[in-house]
Amino acid sequence: MQYIALTQRCNYSCNCCPCITHDSSSDLDFDILKEKIECLSDDPLERITLSGGEPTIYKHFFEVMRLLFQKRKKVIFLTNSSRLSSDDFLNELNVCYPLNNLEIITTLFSVYPGQHDQESGVIGSFANTIKAIHKLLLYGTRVTLKLCITKNNYLQLNSFYDFMRTEFSDDVNFQISGIDYIGMSEKTRYQMMLTCEQIRSQLDPLLKKINYLKLRHLDNRVVFISNLPLCAASLDYSNYFVLNGEMGQIDYLSAQKDMKSRYYDSIKGSELCFQCIAYDNCPGTYSSTFQVMGDAYVTPFR
Ligand code: SF4
Ligand code: SF4
Repeated sequence: MQYIALTQRCNYSCNCCPCITHDSSSDLDFDILKEKIECLSDDPLERITLSGGEPTIYKHFFEVMRLLFQKRKKVIFLTNSSRLSSDDFLNELNVCYPLNNLEIITTLFSVYPGQHDQESGVIGSFANTIKAIHKLLLYGTRVTLKLCITKNNYLQLNSFYDFMRTEFSDDVNFQISGIDYIGMSEKTRYQMMLTCEQIRSQLDPLLKKINYLKLRHLDNRVVFISNLPLCAASLDYSNYFVLNGEMGQIDYLSAQKDMKSRYYDSIKGSELCFQCIAYDNCPGTYSSTFQVMGDAYVTPFR
């Protein structure tokens, strides 16, 4: 998998953001990027993930998309959707990279508009994201709606899923994700931090309900869990987790790092993990989670 962080800049200021800066030196040099894209293989199955910061505010975003389309690459980008509700922006993007080939992942922090807007630091961002998703669906773009789970929203998991089912068709995937605590103030970390036991108390009933609906073909959307270890739910639901090996090796390019291979930054960072029967299959989570919560984060399976 190729992962390209076009810029670390962003037009939002989310409470749980691990990387935001307003410094344009965090933008990738476009000439270097062009060379890298030219050197990519012609394998049309190879996926390129564009991220940031907010990738759509990168100065050469459209040119990048055009070059990637010429290279026949499958592009997925991680976005706050701020620019994707604009018809002009979508029309221009559609010319560079047909939107029915595109996949995006966009985040909501809450099922309540006011709370989401507060978490993102931008009033109206909830409504904008919903509007953008509806527009993209009309173009045939594949959309994944991500909920970054924190202490502020974990009790809303069930309502969030119900909201998704009411608002969107099964074409919209649902991703539940842990967060990276790196770069947060101590106060924010404390407000956000959540143990696997707390997550499991909400995730188990939700996954039970999703299983029920899926078995009866009442909801066929893709549901998956990332950046969380297996003990965030009962082992009966491990099929929902992005497991070890599925992330694989990542070639990462940003202004700070040259294109180089690395493994996804994910660990099983507690001594208790060695006693856990799920150790071999567990994907672990961000190392920052263990730095913040230590052993208290996990609940080993015995
Ligand atoms: S939208 Fe993403 S990059 Fe921007 S501030 Fe929020 S978490 Fe950070
Ligand atoms: S290995 Fe550690 S993090 Fe993974 S399920 Fe077991 S206790 Fe949890």
